[in-house]
Amino acid sequence: MLGRRCAVILGLLACAAAAGEARAQAQAPLRIISFGAHPDDCELKSAGVGAKWAALGHKFKCVAVTNGDIGHAGIAGGQLALRRRAEAKAAAKILGTENEVLDIHDGELMVTLENRRTISRLIREWQADVVISHRPNDYHPDHRYTGVLVMDAAYMVQVPFFGPDVPPLRRNPVFLFSEDRFQKPNPFSGDIVVAIDDVIEKKLAVVAAMESQFYEGGCCDVPPGGIPRDGAAREARQKEVRDLFSRRFEATAERFRSRLAARYGDQRATGIKFAEAFEVCEYGRQPDEKEIRRLFPFFP
Ligand SMILES: [Zn+2]
Repeated sequence: MLGRRCAVILGLLACAAAAGEARAQAQAPLRIISFGAHPDDCELKSAGVGAKWAALGHKFKCVAVTNGDIGHAGIAGGQLALRRRAEAKAAAKILGTENEVLDIHDGELMVTLENRRTISRLIREWQADVVISHRPNDYHPDHRYTGVLVMDAAYMVQVPFFGPDVPPLRRNPVFLFSEDRFQKPNPFSGDIVVAIDDVIEKKLAVVAAMESQFYEGGCCDVPPGGIPRDGAAREARQKEVRDLFSRRFEATAERFRSRLAARYGDQRATGIKFAEAFEVCEYGRQPDEKEIRRLFPFFP
């Protein structure tokens, strides 16, 4: 009799603990960390969703895995790295998010044990629920290796004696890839597509704030005739950049219109102009529909 009573009491205690944990999970801010190879990649791919999470009190951090110190046609080295770090900080301020730029040379990122440890440590320290990165078949070696390093961390963040100086995560985060257009060996699948119309001005302000990359054209897209410095030409160039990136962010909504319809309903989806898209990486936790709604609390 006593044994049965104990079992009932223990069962109730376990239920209460589970309910408490579920409540804590429901209340705690979500924690998202998004890796880009250079100081602008995370912003181009996930600034919209980052701003939406931040607006609801969740924690979003962009990490540039390299310092971007060769990403300009006219300057390079420490001077450029400092400039791009300042641009990334300005972007984070616009979005209400956090930011870190690792001091690894642009164009020289390698898949090393040291870098795997660094990425795992950053994910653990952030206590990430969601991790975003490039796919490993992107065009730029730094993008590809960022993708590989993050994928390599997708299991190791839970392994207690890998990098034991930072406690392991209790649950594997959900790992997502940001959108690209590469087709081989397989095209990007837009598993989760988010409308970002409400934050598009913030995202375009981020593009404007990263002058070295977009206004000035970065390493390889310098405007024909040089970088305009005077009033009217400067305004024209600013408009050109804004229009170019507006079209780019519109193209994502166009590409995944049917996904948007499934998520937001046909009528609303027709009016959505801008979007960001993500593919679920199979090495992280696999979210079901209920969990996708918990992690993306702005879905209707
Ligand atoms: Zn890049």
